[in-house]
Amino acid sequence: MNSLIDDVFAEFVDGDEELRALHAIFAEILPEATLALYGDNGAFVGPNQRRHSADILATFQEQTTGGRATFSSIRLLGNQWVHGIRIDEYQALLVLQVEGLNEDLGRNERLAALYRNSIKLALLRRQYQEARIENEQLTRRMHVVSSKHTQLLDDNHQQFLLIQEKEKEYAKKLESEIARQTRQLREANASLEAASRLKSEFLANMSHELRTPMNAIIGFSGLLLETELAPEQREFTETIGRASASLLVLINDILDLAKIEAGKLELDPAPFQLTDLVKNVEAMFRSQALRKENKLYYQLDPALPASLIGDENRLRQILVNLVGNAMKFTSRGDIVIKIDRVQEDEQAVQLRFAVHDTGIGIPPDRQQAIFEKFTQADGSTTRRFGGTGLGLAITSQLVNLMKGTVELESVVDKGSTFSFVIFLPKDIAPAGSLLPQAAAVAGSGKVGEMAATVGPGPEETLARADLKVLVVEDNLVNQRLVTLLLKKAGCLADVAADGLLALAMLKEHHYDFVLMDVQMPNMDGHAATRRIREIEASAEREEYAALAGRDKPLYVVGLTAHARKEDERQCYEAGMDGFLTKPIIKDKLIDLIEKIRSRKV
Ligand code: ADP
Repeated sequence: MNSLIDDVFAEFVDGDEELRALHAIFAEILPEATLALYGDNGAFVGPNQRRHSADILATFQEQTTGGRATFSSIRLLGNQWVHGIRIDEYQALLVLQVEGLNEDLGRNERLAALYRNSIKLALLRRQYQEARIENEQLTRRMHVVSSKHTQLLDDNHQQFLLIQEKEKEYAKKLESEIARQTRQLREANASLEAASRLKSEFLANMSHELRTPMNAIIGFSGLLLETELAPEQREFTETIGRASASLLVLINDILDLAKIEAGKLELDPAPFQLTDLVKNVEAMFRSQALRKENKLYYQLDPALPASLIGDENRLRQILVNLVGNAMKFTSRGDIVIKIDRVQEDEQAVQLRFAVHDTGIGIPPDRQQAIFEKFTQADGSTTRRFGGTGLGLAITSQLVNLMKGTVELESVVDKGSTFSFVIFLPKDIAPAGSLLPQAAAVAGSGKVGEMAATVGPGPEETLARADLKVLVVEDNLVNQRLVTLLLKKAGCLADVAADGLLALAMLKEHHYDFVLMDVQMPNMDGHAATRRIREIEASAEREEYAALAGRDKPLYVVGLTAHARKEDERQCYEAGMDGFLTKPIIKDKLIDLIEKIRSRKV
């Protein structure tokens, strides 16, 4: 039995780490004490030792016999403690061995409390120690974590700096790339501008080159028609006249379109009378309307202001195109030009222009395409009606320039209405502040006007040769044509081949007016006119037969194939009084001559 308990106890002790630890702690805090554990059978268990109760007893006896030690016991695993060596009832015995101490400490309750407290303290210390270690570990871990954290922050900062650096680099690259591209664009722009300048110069020259021979063809076929001709010759000449007139229209159209596309066409706003414009367009088509048995008329809102500011020539070109088409695609029908007031304020009026016809109409699927250049409603149009498909392209571009849009309503076999709405400022300037009167004689080769030149011309009423003209022109064919036209209009004409020769002639002879070509060798028309004005303003004028003793300056009319606005302006700037474009339109020349006559130069 005993040995069984002993084994169990031994097993328990062996298995109980805490108990072993207790030994160690106790040895540490009270090195002078011995902790012994006793089993029921008297077996003694000490730190790292295990002996049987007999040995233990012998030890105790020896100690007791030595009389130098007192030992007491404390029951650690039970509720009570009992002094003495009878140990069978106890499971554990604490033996305190203090040299020279005679007191029976086993009975001392305070000592027992000290034991207990010491053990608790030892346990607490151990816990404290463990907690400290744990704390250290935690601190170390915290340190690791915090240094990792710092490391991460550092890393991040580093990355941030790197990114910043890269961004700076990128921004720099971007900047230089933008600068490079801007430079390239500027260069491209400059070369585009140069190209566009070249294009517009080319256009101006083209227009000059094309109009000069047209001038001769139209002018001479007109003159030829006024001579005695065999019927066949007359027919041929009329055909030449008609063909060249329509060629001129085409050339003007192509040049207009090219100018619009090059962005070179500028509007030239000036005061004009809306009623005059519409009457004028109606008059141009009157005979054609009669021929086609069309009723052509206009309706003008009576509340419209009389005088407006706009580019009258371009507005006329638009209306001529629309009415021309209406006439072309209508027979025995009605054509109405209608102008309504949409709204009005003190400064401007919004107008709706509409040209309505009761002609063949345009199928819905073609209504958009016909505004494209060189496009007609159907393939057979050219064969049946002629035309190039440029008119509406130009018309809609011109209306766009005036900040409007051409609209179309059309029903096949019922008719069409082309309309657009634009703003025009009112002419509120006082009367008499208009452009120079001569500006009105600048022609631009319209269908109606050309027909007037080519046709058998009005009755000749200007037989008296009462005006003497100096024609300054380098081109021989033009010299001949202009002098012939002038002669027909009752003028005497001398010719000078350039500006210098003209000045020499003016010194010697009296002239009523000068027709001055612009482009000439040696001295051009602008320079010659400037020189004339200079002489007139000085005492030198007395040396010039044509300039001396006049109460008005010599009337100088520019004559040029350049029909652009700036050409006109340059003529006036050089000191000219008027401006005629080539090909010379006979009626315009006669108007001019009449004006000069009435001016009593
Ligand atoms: P063109 O008359 O020289 O052919 P446009 O650009 O003026 O060129 O017109 C293009 C086409 O639009 C015409 O060929 C015709 O088919 C159609 N068109 C224009 N106006 C009318 C109209 N009033 N009635 C019927 N068709 C029209």
